[in-house]
Amino acid sequence: MINLMEPSLWRTQAFINGVWCNARAQKTFAVENPATGEIIAQVADVGVAETREAITAAAQAQLDWAQKTAAERSQLLRSWFNLVMHHQEDLAQILTLEQGKPLAEARGEIAYGASYIEWFAEEAKRIYGDVIAPPSADQRILVIKQPVGVVAAITPWNFPCAMLARKIAPALAAGCTIVAKPAAETPLSALALAFLAQQAGIPAGVINVVTGTDSAAIGAELTENTLVRKLSFTGSTAVGKQLIQQCAADVKRITLELGGNAPFIVFDDADLDAAVAGAMASKFRNAGQTCVCANRFYVHRPVYALFSEKLTLMMQSLLVGNGAEANTTIGPLISLKAIKKVQALVDDAIAQGARIAYQTKLEITQQGYFYPPTLLLDVAADSALTQQEIFGPVAALIPFDTEEDAIQLANNTEVGLAAYCYTRDAKRIKNLSDKLETGMVGINTGLISNAMAPFGGIKQSGWGREGSHYGIDDYVNIKYLCERF
Ligand code: NAP
Repeated sequence: MINLMEPSLWRTQAFINGVWCNARAQKTFAVENPATGEIIAQVADVGVAETREAITAAAQAQLDWAQKTAAERSQLLRSWFNLVMHHQEDLAQILTLEQGKPLAEARGEIAYGASYIEWFAEEAKRIYGDVIAPPSADQRILVIKQPVGVVAAITPWNFPCAMLARKIAPALAAGCTIVAKPAAETPLSALALAFLAQQAGIPAGVINVVTGTDSAAIGAELTENTLVRKLSFTGSTAVGKQLIQQCAADVKRITLELGGNAPFIVFDDADLDAAVAGAMASKFRNAGQTCVCANRFYVHRPVYALFSEKLTLMMQSLLVGNGAEANTTIGPLISLKAIKKVQALVDDAIAQGARIAYQTKLEITQQGYFYPPTLLLDVAADSALTQQEIFGPVAALIPFDTEEDAIQLANNTEVGLAAYCYTRDAKRIKNLSDKLETGMVGINTGLISNAMAPFGGIKQSGWGREGSHYGIDDYVNIKYLCERF
């Protein structure tokens, strides 16, 4: 089924305290290939008891891990980064098999995930404190930063490598240890990453991975166990809100990377070809299943028809199929449930007057979860399609007349992760940069994520930032020392 150069990367047991282990009850769950519907693995289905064991191990390991010098932690992270890149091809094969994205994208995700490990290997050495001018001459005010302790990480299926790497890397850099729970749809990439961390020499208990289907019970243990000092969650806003409540009991610190609903605004002065290229990258990457995907296209009325023509032409080049096949540019959705959700949103938009301007004809004979790339015109500005994350390859185009209209439409949502705008007008860029209510704005680009930049949202898209020098802040406590002489 899969031919790995390093077969040891194929792990199906949970990883607790440096040991690969089955569920105590010997239970397993099936992992499916979304491109074929085939079961590709049976993975240990662990529960609360094993999660507690992992937390205890992480708490024990943290005492020594925090005592290592920053240079030692940096070196271990660097070794892990080197191994991830060395095994990029195998890791990409595993990722495509369990998640569905085309191999070229999977290779990109491995490199992207690894770049966070490399970045935080460097940042580990740059966690600085402060010396502050005191109120009297016989005093000294010092500020030091200390690791928060044991971190729990819960990650989604759409980027099974990168979402985990950008939590584990800053946590370890800061001197924290971690218990990670990957999504049940995609545990294999997380386990392969943990295997490489073990090979890199990262000590037992520093990284633990609990795989299981009872996410509510595992999540309850991760949030309610007082040994865990922080939760970092990437996933839906609904689950995020629930986890906030659970963390309230012991006032646990939280980083939340939640859902988005990105507006993609094209003005009549834009380079339309660049805007179409940006739209393709932003909308159709990972079959539209990214949190920063363009979800709503607002196009200036004078260029609305031309933009849709150009976008249609580009969409005609998309090749839908099994991500493992060389020519595929767009893979399946994650599940049948995902297809039904996208179809319901499209049906609702059509019932409100939208029309399909283009739809790829699928020639898929397999049992996979494929949805055809679709372009919808005349979408009602308040349809569900514009208010919810589509999470599928559907582009919804809505015309607008003025800059202020576009801003008002873009901000008319409870979430605020990413926004994109295409224009050549400097004054307009300043106005949009000021007024768009999102944590990130792509200006004349559809691709904004990288390890150097602070990734995160405002409004109901979450708290905190991942990546960049800000990314370490979520994993350290500030301690102020008041010295008197
Ligand atoms: P989800 O249902 O919230 O699941 C995310 C993770 O939470 C999975 O590991 C899931 O486990 C777990 N989970 C589900 N219910 C839980 C509970 N009651 N307690 C504890 N854990 C629980 O989200 P999804 O549909 O898989 O992922 C897509 C969402 O993630 C989208 O909204 C997307 O925008 C968001 N996302 C955000 C970012 C960002 O950086 N802002 C990045 C990527 C994705 P199981 O799957 O095993 O149930």
